[in-house]
Amino acid sequence: MTVTHILGYPRIGEKRELKFALESYWNGETDQSQLKQVADKIKLHNWSHQDNCELSYVTAGDFAWYDHVLGTSLLLGHVPKRHAKGFPDLDTLFRVGRGQSQSGCGCHGEAASDMTKWFNTNYHYIVPEFSSRDTFQVSWPQLFDEINEAQQKGHRVKPVLLGPLSYLYLGKEVEEGFDRLTLLPRLLTAYQAIIAKLEKLGVEWVQIDEPILALELDKVWLDSFKLAYQVIRGEVKVLLTTYFDSVVDTLDTIVDLEVDGLHVDLAAAPEQLEQVAERLPDDWVLSAGVVNGRNVWRANLYSALKQLQPVKDRLGDRLWVASSCSLLHTPVDLELETGLPTVTKNWFAFAKQKVSEVQWLAKALDGDDVAIQYCAQYSQPIIERDLSTWVNKPEVQKRIAGLNLKSGLRSAQYRQRAHHQKEVLKLPLLPTTTIGSFPQTGEVRNVRAAYKRGDIDFANYQSAMQGFIKDTVERQEAVGLDVLVHGEAERNDMVEYFAENLEGFQTTQFGWVQSYGSRCVKPAIVVADIERKKPITVEWSTYAQSLTDKPMKGMLTGPVTILCWTFPREDVPRETIANQLALALQDEVSDLQQAGINIIQIDEPAIREGLPLKANKHQDYLDWAVKAFRISAQTAKPETQIHTHMCYSEFNEIIESVAALDADVITIETSRSNMELLNAFEAFNYPNEIGPGVYDIHSPNIPSVEWIEQLIHKAATRIPVERLWVNPDCGLKTRNWEETEQSLKHLVQAAAQLREKLT
Ligand code: GLN
Ligand code: ZN
Repeated sequence: MTVTHILGYPRIGEKRELKFALESYWNGETDQSQLKQVADKIKLHNWSHQDNCELSYVTAGDFAWYDHVLGTSLLLGHVPKRHAKGFPDLDTLFRVGRGQSQSGCGCHGEAASDMTKWFNTNYHYIVPEFSSRDTFQVSWPQLFDEINEAQQKGHRVKPVLLGPLSYLYLGKEVEEGFDRLTLLPRLLTAYQAIIAKLEKLGVEWVQIDEPILALELDKVWLDSFKLAYQVIRGEVKVLLTTYFDSVVDTLDTIVDLEVDGLHVDLAAAPEQLEQVAERLPDDWVLSAGVVNGRNVWRANLYSALKQLQPVKDRLGDRLWVASSCSLLHTPVDLELETGLPTVTKNWFAFAKQKVSEVQWLAKALDGDDVAIQYCAQYSQPIIERDLSTWVNKPEVQKRIAGLNLKSGLRSAQYRQRAHHQKEVLKLPLLPTTTIGSFPQTGEVRNVRAAYKRGDIDFANYQSAMQGFIKDTVERQEAVGLDVLVHGEAERNDMVEYFAENLEGFQTTQFGWVQSYGSRCVKPAIVVADIERKKPITVEWSTYAQSLTDKPMKGMLTGPVTILCWTFPREDVPRETIANQLALALQDEVSDLQQAGINIIQIDEPAIREGLPLKANKHQDYLDWAVKAFRISAQTAKPETQIHTHMCYSEFNEIIESVAALDADVITIETSRSNMELLNAFEAFNYPNEIGPGVYDIHSPNIPSVEWIEQLIHKAATRIPVERLWVNPDCGLKTRNWEETEQSLKHLVQAAAQLREKLT
């Protein structure tokens, strides 16, 4: 019989129960036992679902209170010193993830650990901090308790652990000149102890995740695997799990390791199957990750069956069937989507449904006729969908083909454009602006929700929104900003808003996916050709412009960001979707400038995270991503100023592509890193205008005039002052009005003082 399992299940609960439980606990409304009750219920539910679907193993250890990397740190007793007081305690974990509570004293508590993206997903993990004095000691019983609980319920349990090398690799040194890899021997001792405990619990297989094996690793890292897996070898069998890309490049190392099986991601890299199966050591199992854990489409079980059948014939029971990666990255349960038309619903599978896909496929591989029949029928709806919803219309193809020739260049070069823009916009030296959103107060959210529920009609909604816009414009004028925005009160989310207003997307009601801690996102799904049937933002922007003589900046989300933050189709190249989005946005740009909006910002905060994991695929991605952005801006007249915005600071590797976007102005995040980012601009002479953020919007602190001034000064040493803008790091939607107005006053004042000094 084919063995089946998944690499992990979502832990937020079907209706984000964990999110709400965490937040009420953090707010002091509930105690730890109430929080634990919610978590227990979720875990039991997840296990029994896997058991009901007859998976060979249920997975334990995939639950996380905040993040699974942070959970690993606690398991290993590896907590930053500044937070270690009181450990082991759940509150320690929350302090590392969220920082010390600032309640009461008004002073700052100890800082949270950094958070960063989990490979190329939209999930964020807490970065482990390493220094030479670190020790590791198994001190947090959560994993063992969970195994115990699952066993008590009669489940056959396969626990999951983040592997020692990935754990080290994903962390960072917090000590000058220290090399974290030197901690490996100490770390391995702790892993040995973990394995020994698993053995005592009667665990047969443990899943050890080493996703870094899908990266292009330096030799020292790669060479360390051998020792590591020799040391932690015990009686428990090890399934070495990799995901998110192919391991063909590291296969030489892998096949030499002392483990008992390998899991590969066949959704991300199906092409690796043949080589991996070929070179698989004789006594290993191969876990085939065919059910995509990173998207919401039904698996084409029939073609998966055909793909795996020859491998099954060769390997027999050594072939396992699994999800491609943890199901953490998909929404929980499709059945909750009562608003979806049946036809559409039949295209999708969320985590809960994916578990049964794994099982059906395995049964079919075992030759079960009913299952084979089921697999064939199950795939039918997605095949039909392909025919009915994706045509990539000839006129769209033609438009894109026409653009290919010119790779989306605007009609004039930056220098000429800048000249025209100066005449039209008449902006002062060091112009001040913001990134788009202004505080989303409870009132704003209530109006949007009421309209969505149908409690108020469009006329009422519109006049309420206009009220918010008017207020936002007046406040910006009072503060004295040079380029204003309408404030984005109508947007719940910068991507969902466009998805809701474009043809070709399906939005869901409960399709939440964990982003970090208790935060979840609800990505829309690309289901068909993307088209813009009517203007989306023009009405709001022109209304805002009618209220002021200052230039009003139109606000769009760029094609690459919309693509990165939605679930794309699996049967259409990402580039094609990006181009369709770009054309839709291009029409919006044309309409905005037609309506008298002379500055348009096209946000691309996600362009960097869309980078493929392997460096040899970067250029291809960057080429089409840059082109998609340029297509969106292509119809802008020379005198229309195009802005873009990105909110991160690791620019170095993509700086040339950022320049190639050819936006007239780019605003970026810099204040948190104290302008460190500008180092990237030292070696590379960025040709256009830049607004390095001088106000850290992630903190409630109000930056002083002097602070802002010294940041601008610093920036001016790298970028000619004629090309510098003054603005916050990012949008202000999470801040309150009081902080925002105070901070922006300081920002305007700092710019004014510098202008005076400089002229
Ligand atoms: N215009 C958006 C805002 O201000 C940009 C958000 C982002 O960069 N993530 O909210
Ligand atoms: Zn931003």
